[in-house]
Amino acid sequence: MPHWSTLIRDIPDFPKPGVTFRDITPLLADADGLKDCIDALAEPWRGVALDAVLGIESRGFILGAALARVLGTGFVPLRKPGKLPGPTVSQAYALEYGEDRLEMHVDAVAPGARVLIVDDVLATGGTLAAALELARRQGARVVGASLLLEVPGLGGRDRWDPDLPIDVATAR
Ligand code: 5GP
Repeated sequence: MPHWSTLIRDIPDFPKPGVTFRDITPLLADADGLKDCIDALAEPWRGVALDAVLGIESRGFILGAALARVLGTGFVPLRKPGKLPGPTVSQAYALEYGEDRLEMHVDAVAPGARVLIVDDVLATGGTLAAALELARRQGARVVGASLLLEVPGLGGRDRWDPDLPIDVATAR
């Protein structure tokens, strides 16, 4: 486990009783922690041809923009419904109760663009799978996913394409 992972804290009963939330804000607030976790996220993708990092709202924006800067790519936000100003494509995904959606601008990635999807936490995998579907529907070539950590036992990887790499930086 990397030294900076100790800056991620557990918050019990958030956002509801019985759920333990992994809070990355202490890591983001720490100068060395932030630098080192972004470097760790970037490490497997250095030298990989990439056109854009796709960051999932909202912590994926923070990590993804910093990662795009390090990898020398553009950044594309994947947002909650109704937030993007231009024409969008939308992908629904199931929650425990009901559903949510992710959206991206229709012109955000060129067909064939090589993209990396970024978020902070992999839990049930629904959000990441929706991001993959959205990117592919726009003709992007997804090269993999980059995350800080994974909640074990929720089957998050089962919803991802088994032929594509998922890198979890705290697991290295
Ligand atoms: P999933 O769709 O895999 O169930 O949930 C992943 C999404 O919910 C990610 O966008 C992630 O930011 C958020 N999420 C779920 N659980 C946690 C958690 O414990 N900590 C943080 N920081 N985000 C979480």
